[in-house]
Amino acid sequence: MKGKCNVEVVVVGAGLAGLTAAVVAALDGASVVLCDVRALGGRARSHTREGFILNQGPHALYRTGAGAGVLSRLGVDFSGSPPHRAAFGYTEAGSLAVLPTSAGSLLRSSVLGVFDKVRFARLLARVQRLEPASFAKMSAAEWVASLGLSSRGARVISALTRVATYAGDLDLVSGDAAVAQLQLALRGVLYLDGGWQSLVEGLRATATSSRVRVLECEQATELHARADGTFEVRTSARTLQAASVVVAGGSPAAARALLPRPPAWELGAPATAACLDLGLCRLPTTMVAFGLDQPLYLSTHSPKACLAPPGGAVVHVMRYGARISTDDRAQLWELARRCGIGDRDVVVQRFLHEMTVCHALPRPGSGLRGRPSIDATGTDGVFIAGDWVGSVGLLADASIASGEAAGRAASQRAKRQRALGSAMVGP
Ligand SMILES: Cc1cc2nc3c(=O)[nH]c(=O)nc-3n(C[C@H](O)[C@H](O)[C@H](O)COP(=O)(O)OP(=O)(O)OC[C@H]3O[C@@H](n4cnc5c(N)ncnc54)[C@H](O)[C@@H]3O)c2cc1C
Repeated sequence: MKGKCNVEVVVVGAGLAGLTAAVVAALDGASVVLCDVRALGGRARSHTREGFILNQGPHALYRTGAGAGVLSRLGVDFSGSPPHRAAFGYTEAGSLAVLPTSAGSLLRSSVLGVFDKVRFARLLARVQRLEPASFAKMSAAEWVASLGLSSRGARVISALTRVATYAGDLDLVSGDAAVAQLQLALRGVLYLDGGWQSLVEGLRATATSSRVRVLECEQATELHARADGTFEVRTSARTLQAASVVVAGGSPAAARALLPRPPAWELGAPATAACLDLGLCRLPTTMVAFGLDQPLYLSTHSPKACLAPPGGAVVHVMRYGARISTDDRAQLWELARRCGIGDRDVVVQRFLHEMTVCHALPRPGSGLRGRPSIDATGTDGVFIAGDWVGSVGLLADASIASGEAAGRAASQRAKRQRALGSAMVGP
């Protein structure tokens, strides 16, 4: 155990939320220590195998989402490309048909009849003008039902909504989140060159240049409030004394384990996924497929993004809502084969049987505004950040937006403590 260390802000957890919080607090002038029980990046880490860069399941950055805005403000550069435009609907019977995802593909699609095509075209024309907040009371499933489509049309919209929200069960996510995500998805997403590791490395570089002290492989085990308004954070290697703490451990459970007082959060259901990540020596015959009868998805991320050696391809296959792993694995392989992927094409493969994509979806009834705020910890000076925190965005957008807000609040609180005369010095 190393000695005591005084610092203004301690950030626990170095996924996108914690990295953002640490960088924002440091750029605001605070001395910052950031610790993670593992390597930096959390669920945004990518792994390189035989020249293929695999994200942990399919990851796309919303071009106009809150996350991209914060990263740009922080000077974190990223590059990438939009997905393949031609998407196919995959039915239980195993057929693949052109899916309407734009005005052009709507005309070509045989998935919808004329009645649905007209309604679908009207929806595409007005979806950007919808006010998401007005759908917070209903579930995404109720919103889809309110569109008055045939059951086939409703299945198509449900498949698109699933891809935009990652919610396997649309009864469990609020309508405002669904509409906001569809608006973002229609404005475009990017598959990132170098994978999401490029965001992690960009944030790491900014953290280093702004003098954040990074402690990798160091778990925060205890957090105590002290009588003078400061906090003691014990890690597996040292004790830190801080004016403010941001807990960005990924899950509500990780936050609960550290918070000095038990929080009273009303949380939605988590969104989980089973993922099959593939590095192939050639492109599949079908690049993008959305399950219509089953919550399935396949997308070819490279060569759109630089993720594979020349001639190769990275393909992500996913089931929204993880179940028994053997069943899910078989179902994902079935879709992969249907899209033209044979055993001999596979150079590397990885099956992630149950990933948590989002720890608590916005609930129908309270919607995005019903999620816990960054200061809903019951302790002044302790803040939370993650994909289940704050009223802004879903998925990584929520993590990064809440990370930014928590980092700023933590550094402001540290400044107030400094003004009150607490003896804080840099690490
Ligand atoms: C399959 C899949 C697909 C996804 N696709 C998309 C997508 O297309 N678009 C999108 O926007 N988002 C997507 N996401 C979501 C996105 O990856 C996450 O929202 C984001 O990475 C979460 O960041 P975070 O910092 O909140 O949490 P995490 O990444 O979970 O980071 C939390 C960190 O805290 C650390 N930690 C926990 N407890 C402690 C402790 N006590 N002490 C020290 N460290 C601790 C953990 O080791 C971890 O590194 C996807 C996620 C998955 C799983």
